[in-house]
Amino acid sequence: MKTSLIASNKDPMGSAIADFYAKGCAAKLRVFSSQFDEDEIPADQLFRTFDEMPPLEQTALRLAEGKILDCGAGSGCHALALQDMSKDVEAIDISSLSVEVMQKRGVKQAYCVNLFDENYLQKFDTILMLMNGSGIIGKLENMGTFFTKMKQLLNPGGCIYMDSSDLRYLFEDEDGSFLIDLAGGYYGEIDFRMQYKQIKGEPFDWLYVDFQTLSYYASENGFKAEMVEEGEHYDYLACLKMV
Ligand code: SAH
Repeated sequence: MKTSLIASNKDPMGSAIADFYAKGCAAKLRVFSSQFDEDEIPADQLFRTFDEMPPLEQTALRLAEGKILDCGAGSGCHALALQDMSKDVEAIDISSLSVEVMQKRGVKQAYCVNLFDENYLQKFDTILMLMNGSGIIGKLENMGTFFTKMKQLLNPGGCIYMDSSDLRYLFEDEDGSFLIDLAGGYYGEIDFRMQYKQIKGEPFDWLYVDFQTLSYYASENGFKAEMVEEGEHYDYLACLKMV
């Protein structure tokens, strides 16, 4: 699991965010994976307003209370929406280019820090992990490290709102049988690499986790997972609380 920051010359998403902020448009942010065909993330999606957000994200923002951490905050879209609701939010990201944009856009507390940095020890009532927020965990084998960090950061009674998707629909045949080798690892463990113009990022692991698997790891690590809301396409918003 990565505990470092991203160098600006190896930061495709941060570069797309910086360009879009400066010019109002950006080139293609290309996404590669050994498991899928090439895809792209439209930069304007990273600057979505509250009204443009999917309902699961809107619900998470409405429920967030107390001192809030927006983890992996990108352009700061959620942090800005929370500030508009007069909520107290701190936004962190490993991309210094993104953090600079957040600061310029008016996010009052925006810091370039890795969630898993052992020196990062604040206390929060709500931790938000949105836009497949489980991705930051990387792989199932990192669940223990993730929940240990969450215990350090959460105030008693606090909770994490995380969205994710069950990717089984990508690998399931019409009759319900699996098209992938289950011995090959969990089907939601995806490797990605991004490119923006000539800027190529390092490959990284990104975890999509179904609710049942998330619940299992939560209970193994002293947390309870609750389903808050299900989306239209295998996506959902979960609330994770310490027990
Ligand atoms: N939440 C934003 C951005 C999602 S993209 C939105 O919904 O638009 C995921 C973001 O998480 C990226 O900006 C990436 O730089 C950041 N990130 C990835 N790993 C991280 C980590 N360990 N700590 C903090 N931020 C991280």
